[in-house]
Amino acid sequence: MLIREELCVGCGQCQPYCPTAAIGFQGMKSVVDQDVCYECGTCLRVGICPVDALAEHPMVYEYPRALRKFFSDPSATHKATGIQGRGTEESKTNDVTGRVKPHEAGIAIEVGRPTLGMGLHDIQKISQALARAGINEIEECNPIHSMIADEATGTLKEELLGERVLSAIIEISVPKERVPVVLQTIKEVAKEVDSVFMLDVFSTLGPNLEIQPDILEMITDAGFNWRPNAKINMGLGRAWE
Ligand code: SF4
Ligand code: SF4
Repeated sequence: MLIREELCVGCGQCQPYCPTAAIGFQGMKSVVDQDVCYECGTCLRVGICPVDALAEHPMVYEYPRALRKFFSDPSATHKATGIQGRGTEESKTNDVTGRVKPHEAGIAIEVGRPTLGMGLHDIQKISQALARAGINEIEECNPIHSMIADEATGTLKEELLGERVLSAIIEISVPKERVPVVLQTIKEVAKEVDSVFMLDVFSTLGPNLEIQPDILEMITDAGFNWRPNAKINMGLGRAWE
């Protein structure tokens, strides 16, 4: 985002709307720190500026800066997936897609939320740690997949490492017996990640609609507290085998 200096009257009204504090005063005018701004578009969308001084950055749709917008602006559709948002639809609608089978667990690592933001080099720290643990198949429909330069090592394309986004989600699915390795890996690499993240483990329900007890046990054994959540898309499910 940019602020047109010739228009800005320095009222400061836009500043509290920036979730990452990228807007500050420079003299009597507001300016956007271009390194910190992750192009979420919030300041422009709220329409708070009385003189219409906010304007999109000229490179906002140019690679690699465009990644900022695709990962941070909820109204932007990501080119890699064709869907709005940072993850894949499948994680939320496994009852429809059947991506994670009963003998598997889906894992999502959601970095940067809520609103703190993150550098993509932090995603690389996680993808490289997972690759070292033998897990290098990131969900194909996930936007992160198209950012990987080398699946064997989990290395991202170099030009992306300086970019910053609101949040990004690494999604994988593994056989259930691999869950402890994944959790231990995440626990270790968490010490190096310079942001907050949530760790999601998801599975199909058991025959009596119970959460699979062995998965809960693995989570507890790895030293995590689990909190059950469900996303129910009423009327969208269809049977799969
Ligand atoms: S686009 Fe988002 S991150 Fe950038 S200045 Fe506006 S509110 Fe802040
Ligand atoms: S709201 Fe508009 S005029 Fe006021 S500080 Fe922000 S950009 Fe400048």
